[in-house]
Amino acid sequence: MKFLITFLRRYPGKSLTTLCAMLFAGIAEGFGMSMLLPLLSLSTGTGHGATHKSGSTLAKTITHLFTSINLKPTIGILLCIFVASIVVKVILVLLANKRVGYMVADVATDLRLNLLRAVFNSSWGYYVHQPTGSITNSFATEATRSADAYLFGMRAVAMLLNASVYTVVALMVAWKATILAIFIGSGILYILRFMVRQAKRAGRDQTIVLKSLLSFLTDILLSIKPLKAMDRENTAGRILEKKTMELRDALQRQVFSKEALRALQEPLSTIFFAIGLYVALVLLDLPLPNVLVMVYMLAKILKALQRAQREHQAMMIAESAYWSLLNKIKKANQQKEIFPGTRPLRFKRSIRLKDVTFSYGDREVLNRLNMTIPKASFAALVGPSGSGKTTVVDLITGLFFPKEGDVLVDDTPLREMNIKKWRQKIGYVPQETILLHDTILFNVTLGDETIGEDEVVEALKKAGAWDFVSKMPKGIHSIVGERGGLISGGQRQRITIARALVKKPELLILDEATTALDPKTEQDICNTLKDLLDQITIFAISHQETILREADIAYSLEQGKARQIKGEKV
Ligand code: ADP
Ligand code: MG
Repeated sequence: MKFLITFLRRYPGKSLTTLCAMLFAGIAEGFGMSMLLPLLSLSTGTGHGATHKSGSTLAKTITHLFTSINLKPTIGILLCIFVASIVVKVILVLLANKRVGYMVADVATDLRLNLLRAVFNSSWGYYVHQPTGSITNSFATEATRSADAYLFGMRAVAMLLNASVYTVVALMVAWKATILAIFIGSGILYILRFMVRQAKRAGRDQTIVLKSLLSFLTDILLSIKPLKAMDRENTAGRILEKKTMELRDALQRQVFSKEALRALQEPLSTIFFAIGLYVALVLLDLPLPNVLVMVYMLAKILKALQRAQREHQAMMIAESAYWSLLNKIKKANQQKEIFPGTRPLRFKRSIRLKDVTFSYGDREVLNRLNMTIPKASFAALVGPSGSGKTTVVDLITGLFFPKEGDVLVDDTPLREMNIKKWRQKIGYVPQETILLHDTILFNVTLGDETIGEDEVVEALKKAGAWDFVSKMPKGIHSIVGERGGLISGGQRQRITIARALVKKPELLILDEATTALDPKTEQDICNTLKDLLDQITIFAISHQETILREADIAYSLEQGKARQIKGEKV
């Protein structure tokens, strides 16, 4: 219920018009069906006066209606009205269904876009702890299941609306029998409620298992090579298989509760039907036309209520996916990266880390660190693994902020500047090179259409990648990872360097970006980069001798502090 209300709130206009169309469809059908009573009275030969004798409110209302418009209710006219009403109903139902169908696509799209924006705009500290698979799962499965839940919910409401219209007609034929029948019918639905709850639990298990399964699967796939090389993929495989079996179990329980509900609805509702009829025929001693109309109406009410319950059950199965997805969006939004700084960007002299202290939770990584990278210089940072080199980079790019102290660009603290503008000046080559399964061109431009192919070639040349790319059969249009585009680790690294260079950054950060290169290639890249030093500042983290030799200024990072080991004192 809460689920439907949330949705109706989220899409009030569209949902309301759809529900109105559904309601009017029900009314049209009810109106058509109410013609059955006089029709039956006429055909049993008692003439149109007989409608009066049957004594029901419905008969009286219809006779009144016909008298007021001065029309004689013949069998032909009544049949025409009946058929016309059903046609109107069918048209309205079609319109409503089309609308719901479109809305289902809208809902899924809306949720997906919200998720994408929330995740992309979330802070690095949040993002880094999100399993990739859990995000793709939300984007794919959970969004689809949420939209389905909405569809089932709307159908359940539509069925309830139909049932209420039929009930009004039935009440007008024989109110006592109807009330009794509805009372018993609701009781049956109430008894079967546990089936709905069971399905809901199975749906929730599906949501939980799918999330952990996909998170794990994605992580395994990203690191499958060492697992295969050590013949350890099966250990991971077994965990995946176990989770897959759990998923099967949840799916089977869903199917079972669905089928059980359907199966139990049948005998129980037949009893309800029989009781209604018994009351109408024996206790109330109604005339035959009224009884026949009641049989028809009760059957209709019954079918609508049963379907409403089944749709409700289907909604409950899918509902948990919506809450899970919504939670993900909400959490990411709470962790939104905020850029309060507005001070204009000026990078003329240096980047300076001043008394910077930083920790991940309790673990302190940097302690009153001081370091200066003069503009237009080639600066290097060395230090043992885990000493905090990458953390220094993350502070310079504004992905993290110091706990104490400041990162200053010229003399402006980074947090007071427009950080997005600052990042646009940065070319960054990370420690791990992961290329997209796309063309080399796309891997360099990342889809930025303002970058021309000649600029891509130029960047590839600077990064020392042009010699092997130009030899590929399709050149920059070769797809990375496919036949003709299979490249080595060092070649991948050079493509990532080209990606960082293509936007002509003012600051180039290389985080152990040349580790996979042979000394000659590394030297060549260093030489080309040094030629650019009037336009660019280079900050390289490395253990390679080449980098240290070529650097103008170098620091060593130990125990949270930086010590200058090369270059003039700054
Ligand atoms: P380096 O790049 O010098 O190898 P890092 O800057 O990546 O070192 O990490 C420094 C220390 O901080 C490491 O000991 C690492 O365990 C810890 N660390 C890095 N990233 C995180 C994180 N997101 N959460 C918690 N601890 C982290
Ligand atoms: Mg590192």
